[in-house]
Amino acid sequence: MRRIPGWLLISAGMVFARATPAQTNPAIHQEARAILQQLIEINTTDSVGSVTKASEAVAKRLLDAGFPPGDVIVAGPTDRKKNLVARYRGGSQRSPILFIGHLDVVEARREDWSLDPFRFAESDGFFYGRGARDMKAGDAILVETFIRLKREGYRPDRDLILALTADEEGGDYNGVDWLLKEHKDWIDAQYCINLDAGEFEKLRGKPVLAGLQASEKIYADFHLEATNPGGHSSVPGAENAIYELAAALTRLENFSFPAHVNDITRSYFLQSASLTTGQLSTDLRGAAKQPPEASAIQHLSGMPYYNSLLRTTCVATMLTGGHAPNALPQMARANVNCRIFPGEDPEQIQTTLERVVDDPKMKVTLAEEKTSDGKAIPVVTVPPSPLLPEVLQAYSTTLAAMWPGLPVVPTMSTGASDGKYLRLAGVPTFGIACMFFDMEDDRSHGRDERVGVQDFYDGVGFGYRFIKTLSSEPSR
Ligand SMILES: [Zn+2]
Repeated sequence: MRRIPGWLLISAGMVFARATPAQTNPAIHQEARAILQQLIEINTTDSVGSVTKASEAVAKRLLDAGFPPGDVIVAGPTDRKKNLVARYRGGSQRSPILFIGHLDVVEARREDWSLDPFRFAESDGFFYGRGARDMKAGDAILVETFIRLKREGYRPDRDLILALTADEEGGDYNGVDWLLKEHKDWIDAQYCINLDAGEFEKLRGKPVLAGLQASEKIYADFHLEATNPGGHSSVPGAENAIYELAAALTRLENFSFPAHVNDITRSYFLQSASLTTGQLSTDLRGAAKQPPEASAIQHLSGMPYYNSLLRTTCVATMLTGGHAPNALPQMARANVNCRIFPGEDPEQIQTTLERVVDDPKMKVTLAEEKTSDGKAIPVVTVPPSPLLPEVLQAYSTTLAAMWPGLPVVPTMSTGASDGKYLRLAGVPTFGIACMFFDMEDDRSHGRDERVGVQDFYDGVGFGYRFIKTLSSEPSR
């Protein structure tokens, strides 16, 4: 999950009050809370956890709510990595809508936390536990909504599919990838809503914006490697793999890839401009112009987050080299992590790196990611999803009913999410988290992870209205 940095957005005194308090239904809240608690207390880490157990717990709840057994599947490549796929039958032949969330969480050690990370706790208006924010709250919102709609006898205008999956955070068995390869028909949809992106942002208690993630950068690691004959370090010669690598990295440090602005980031810059003041606001407006203003690009490039939104970045992240304190190094290697701007050709990035390194002896190779069966995963460009009017409309309508005036801001993630697998498979995917997160209190992947109790309950209310609006005939 990746979000807009709060410290860059200075709310210009705007307050988006809730129009009507989200209908408070204590029984619904209690049930949603129980689902969140159950999910947090099932350890789903890659090391010792079981996504299967979480999938089975959700399956049981769906079956109890009246979903027919044939429409609730728990399946996956290994005993611990089974995904949940449920189909809510609807009324027409229109293509289904897919909703995704990941069930796995990053590792959490008891000694690093002030509480037990795998015991649900409520304190000072927050729910605590590993995955509270990333992203078991989102999973619980989806499960509660499916159960609630089913119980009410609601009939969507087409099938709704829920997929809660494994290994988004790491591990060898990414659930979305597995489903697309092995059982595409289970999750085939006109488009997908991913709750793992597109956060609603609030700053010091004030709602600021509702994100809509429609694009993301592509991840690729390259190795820069220098090799020499080596020798005794008491008689150093002209060649030294470590110096050669260091010089190459300095050239890389001083290089910037060309800036790009696409439809998503243009609209993001424009919307952000109205939420900020002063030079930053002017620069954001300048970057949104066609063509963008050079001075604006230059100013924004000085800020890491905007720089990442404007271009491909490649940065040294790891070093290996030498084999003994008293020997000349025979090898020195750096890992260079690239985040490729959507639409740029990954092969071209390697060519550019070779040109920047400017040393024919330096080897530049793509460090391929491998699937569990040892096959290299190709680095391919992920097209941004075109903003579908019906999604945008349902999103805006639902937000307007709950937080009038809250702007919808399309975003491009600088990191990667499961949305990429679906976008590559041709399924437009939109990150909509359905709930507010505090911009200054992001503890995902960190210590004492938490989510606001009221934010979660508002999310439960939003998810219900949003999914209903998306799948009701009169909304279009
Ligand atoms: Zn996540």
